[in-house]
Amino acid sequence: MTIKLLGEIQSYHAHVYFDGPEQSVLVDTLRDQIAERFSVLLGRRHDRPIGPHARPMFQVAFDIGEFDRMVPWLMLNRQGLTVLVHPNTGHPRRDHLHDALWLGEVLTINPDPFLVEREAEPEAVAVPNTQPKVLP
Ligand code: ZN
Repeated sequence: MTIKLLGEIQSYHAHVYFDGPEQSVLVDTLRDQIAERFSVLLGRRHDRPIGPHARPMFQVAFDIGEFDRMVPWLMLNRQGLTVLVHPNTGHPRRDHLHDALWLGEVLTINPDPFLVEREAEPEAVAVPNTQPKVLP
């Protein structure tokens, strides 16, 4: 058994999934609430499944220092939406399929060329694009 080191984690992603008209409204509200509260790189909303993700979603990329506020906040405020939180270690297949955590329903991760295992590569730095003004 290989022990992986915490130092392998460069950053995290949270993927917030939605399905149907009711969740389509909820997800926009949640995305706005995240932007108001967290210094993160907030991705745009994808209305169709993209890459390995089997449902529409948006992505939040965040630094390791933001994990202990971002993830508990999502636990409390996800409004029934499913969230995948995965580390970025430069091994996308392992990060998504084996080392992720789910809030809510566990969804299928589709096989995708993106997830082909390769040599570890540094993840692009998640430069925040939000300007939080509300305490989480
Ligand atoms: Zn991701």
